[in-house]
Amino acid sequence: MSAKTVAVIGAGVGGMCAATHLASQGMRVTVFEKNPNPGGRCDWIERDGHRFDTGPTLMVMQRVFEAEFAALGTPLEEALEVQQVDPSYRLVFDDGSRLDLTSDMGVMKSQLEAIEPGAFQGFLNYHAEGWRHYQISMERLVNRDFRRFTDFFNLGNIPLLYQVKPLVSHYANMGRYFKSPRLKAAFTFQDVYMGLSPFAAPATFSLMPYTELEHGVWYPKGGMYRLVEALMTLARKAGVEFEFDTTVEGIMVKGNRAVGLELEHNRRIEADVILANADLTHVYQELLPDAWRAEKLMRKQYSCSVITFFWGVDKLYENLGLHTLFLADDYRQNFDAIVREHGLPSNPSLYIHAPVRFNPEAAPEGEDTLIAIVPVGHLAEDREQDWNALTDLARGHVFRRLRGIGITDLEEHLKFETSFTPLSWRKRYNLVNGSTHGLSHNLTQLAYLRPSNRHPRYGNLYFVGASTHPGTGLPTVMISGRLTAKRILDELGSG
Ligand SMILES: Cc1cc2nc3c(=O)[nH]c(=O)nc-3n(C[C@H](O)[C@H](O)[C@H](O)COP(=O)(O)OP(=O)(O)OC[C@H]3O[C@@H](n4cnc5c(N)ncnc54)[C@H](O)[C@@H]3O)c2cc1C
Repeated sequence: MSAKTVAVIGAGVGGMCAATHLASQGMRVTVFEKNPNPGGRCDWIERDGHRFDTGPTLMVMQRVFEAEFAALGTPLEEALEVQQVDPSYRLVFDDGSRLDLTSDMGVMKSQLEAIEPGAFQGFLNYHAEGWRHYQISMERLVNRDFRRFTDFFNLGNIPLLYQVKPLVSHYANMGRYFKSPRLKAAFTFQDVYMGLSPFAAPATFSLMPYTELEHGVWYPKGGMYRLVEALMTLARKAGVEFEFDTTVEGIMVKGNRAVGLELEHNRRIEADVILANADLTHVYQELLPDAWRAEKLMRKQYSCSVITFFWGVDKLYENLGLHTLFLADDYRQNFDAIVREHGLPSNPSLYIHAPVRFNPEAAPEGEDTLIAIVPVGHLAEDREQDWNALTDLARGHVFRRLRGIGITDLEEHLKFETSFTPLSWRKRYNLVNGSTHGLSHNLTQLAYLRPSNRHPRYGNLYFVGASTHPGTGLPTVMISGRLTAKRILDELGSG
């Protein structure tokens, strides 16, 4: 019997992982990617000897990376050299005061008690809750798929309502542990990774600060793109074939089956299974015929976007760590401006990544490579968004915040600037609304309620990646790749 063929749309991390699992089970897998290189959002650019990771800069949920590399057949430490970053972040507040998040509990204690007497006990209690949420959510909600309604809506899942607090707002829940708004912010800002405001996110997401502190924040030697290169090695070893610079223009359907792909330059290919890794709404909007399903998806809630600056600098700022996060005191206004008004807050929280500390190859000797990420609203058709003006404003905020920690001469030392706005994210990776994390992870878009990994009508059309189950982030899309591959194998096996 000849091997079944699979055509994958997109070489993002989720697509690469699913492709590798399928090829290692004997399927003939070809990945069609519109860009010249793999990785999708986990991408990089280089200019004048300065190397920038344009998407992810943090490896968090390290246990998941370990488990997923093992599932792909190679231990993480063999595939990739990773280094722990500790302190993981330096948080800087509006008055210039700092909090270094570290797994050294002695240091945490003295810092937390200085901000709010008694806060260390609150932190330990919060951490214990994060541990519970992590264990239960990973087992019951993330590391499994929901193929039928009853997989999720059943009596056995009722205890989840109090075990992982999905109905309590994350920020409101912080009142149980801390009084200081700064501490509440310090342990909820991670919700942005899910595309959510902590005021709307379920308290379940205390699992994120828990895993950062307990399992650590890591960074691959040589930069984040090494992760993609490692996955590429595994994919090729399993026999996956790649066609780059090849845009998929349509999915051919017949009755209730997807039969192949329409590629650019009028090429058509047939396949037994189609697996779409491109952003889910893009697939429904641009590649499939059912417009009403695309409209339904468009009405869902999308994650925020970011304006990113990539700066080549002719001097090294020694006092800047790998990850610095400026957290604004007007925390709620920040999220309202981003999520509700789809704009730029008046005093935005923002993040600076300085990779040279952990990756000297990222800049010529004695120079610096800086990335500044400013969260903003996603593209919205119902209002004016002048991205040139917003980029200028965002740049001004970054310089202002850096001046506050003594970096006063950055503008004079810039060799060049490249910047991305939500329009860039849409153009580069076909991310609908320019939403950097795809569909957000609010309660009605989680677990069974998140779009399924299989099309409701075309039974051999599957989905993998950030906007489908279990969700966004590198470790999560690796899980998505494994779960979707397993589903394909199970369902092909059952005819
Ligand atoms: C700025 C930023 C910072 C982030 N930071 C972190 C972080 O620190 N840690 C973390 O874990 N995660 C982070 N993320 C999230 C993480 O990058 C994503 O969740 C993850 O990479 C998504 O992978 P994916 O498999 O869904 O595919 P994607 O990365 O979306 O890849 C899909 C691929 O499909 C291709 N494609 C689209 N349309 C077509 C078409 N028609 N034909 C052919 N190919 C097509 C695209 O070019 C792309 O290569 C960040 C994301 C961004 C943007």
